[in-house]
Order: sequence, then C-alpha cells, then structure tokens
Amino acid sequence: MATNGEDNQNQVSRHQEVGHKSLLQSDALYQYILETSVYPKEPEPMKELREVTAKHPWNIMTTSADEGQFLNMLLKLINAKNTMEIGVYTGYSLLATALALPDDGKILAMDINRENYELGLPVIEKAGVAHKIDFREGPALPLLDHLIADEKNHGSYDFIFVDADKDNYINYHKRLIDLVKVGGVIGYDNTLWNGSVVAPPDAPLRKYVRYYRDFVLELNKALAADPRIEICMLPVGDGITLCRRIK
Ligand code: SAM
Ligand code: CA
Repeated sequence: MATNGEDNQNQVSRHQEVGHKSLLQSDALYQYILETSVYPKEPEPMKELREVTAKHPWNIMTTSADEGQFLNMLLKLINAKNTMEIGVYTGYSLLATALALPDDGKILAMDINRENYELGLPVIEKAGVAHKIDFREGPALPLLDHLIADEKNHGSYDFIFVDADKDNYINYHKRLIDLVKVGGVIGYDNTLWNGSVVAPPDAPLRKYVRYYRDFVLELNKALAADPRIEICMLPVGDGITLCRRIK
C-alpha cells in the first residue's frame, strides 16, 4: 500500500503531467481530451504561446488549452466582432480570441501588468492578429467607468471575457451588463474555483483559494438571480459561466 508521502508524490507528478485544470472524473480523461481533440487542432501560435507561458513562474494563471479551444469556437459561433477581455496575463485566451475574430474585429484588453502581456506579444504579432488588440494597462474598474460614461459604448460588445481579480467580479458585472449588447455574452472564468465552491467549511484550502471563494460563491448566486441574463455554467477549465444578456 502506498504511504501518504507516495500518494502526495504521485499526485504532484500527475498534476505536472496534465495541469491543474481538470474538474473531470479522472486526469486520464482530461489527458484524453487534450490529446484527441485539443493538441492536434491547436493553432501553431497558440502552442508556441503555451510553451512560452509554461516557463513563466505564474503559469498556473494561464487559460488551459481546452478552454482556449472552447473560447475560439464560441466566438466563431456567435460571430463576435467587438470584444473585451479583463485579465490578459501572457495572452493565451487573448490569442484564442484574436484568432477567432474577423480581420476587422476588436479586443479591448485590460490588465494591471503589461510585462506579462509583452512576453506573449511577439507570438501574437507573428500570428498577424496584433492589430485587433487594444491593450490598456491599469485596473479594469476605472477603465470600465470611463467606457460607461460614453453612451455610445452601451450595448456595443458581442463578447466579454472576465478572468481577473475575483473579488471585483460583481463590480465588473454591474458595468458590463450595460456594455454588452442584448444577445451578447459575458464569460466569467473560474466560477468553480478549484472545486472549492463545494468544499466543507473545515476543508484545508490554500489561503488565496479560501479568500476568493466567498466572492465566487456570491457571484454565482448573483448571476443565477439576475433577470437580465440567461446563464450556463460549464465545467471547462476551472469553470466558466456564460451569461447571455436578454434585456
Ligand atoms: N486570461 C489570461 C490567460 O489566458 O492567460 C489569464 C488571466 S490571469 C488568471 C489574471 C490576470 O488579471 C493577471 O494577469 C492580473 O494581472 C490581472 N488583474 C488582476 N487584477 C486586475 C485588475 N484590477 N484589473 C485588470 N487586471 C487585473
Ligand atoms: Ca482563468
């Protein structure tokens, strides 16, 4: 029988092998999805950006390859043209978006950290999609207030991806609901928050997981109660909740 130490060791190596993203019943099943349907179809620049990001110390933040593929498909399905992203990091979801948009498509991308965006930028430029991106460095909330102040931005976004500070999601939602068009979609990322949304009160959670969990729980309740949207929570990546504005 394996000792606890060995179990932990096994878990660590499995974790490294498949990433931390799986909410599926087994890591093998997640690996199957990646190897069968994601990696063989992953555009070369996304693969390159994934490899660049893997070497970065904060790589745990990146969007997983299967979620990148999902976003890319979703944007094409809804014919998105004018989009926004809050939380860019090195740009994997940004590139998935940029590759899905038509040549005159736009992404208003916000992050407090420009350095990480610039790490991925050469790959995005090489892919020939950098002209679609308008990157703004700084906290998203004041930028959103600035956008809201101009009436012409209201109801103008086809798609908005939110993948930043979870303690602000509710504040973002209050603004984004006016900026997305009726029929448009907001995607809130990490809404299953490492599975912690169902963890018992005494569960041994990492400090940051425990801290943000209450905000994620509050968001999930607020989205389900919001009559202006239809929602769908998907167990892709760390959980993504799609919100379609209906009024
Ligand atoms: N979507 C990214 C990807 O595919 O790699 C991952 C984003 S990462 C999970 C979260 C990002 O949110 C970080 O790059 C962080 O700098 C950014 N962030 C944190 N607080 C923010 C804020 N108040 N406004 C804008 N960006 C913020
Ligand atoms: Ca995320």
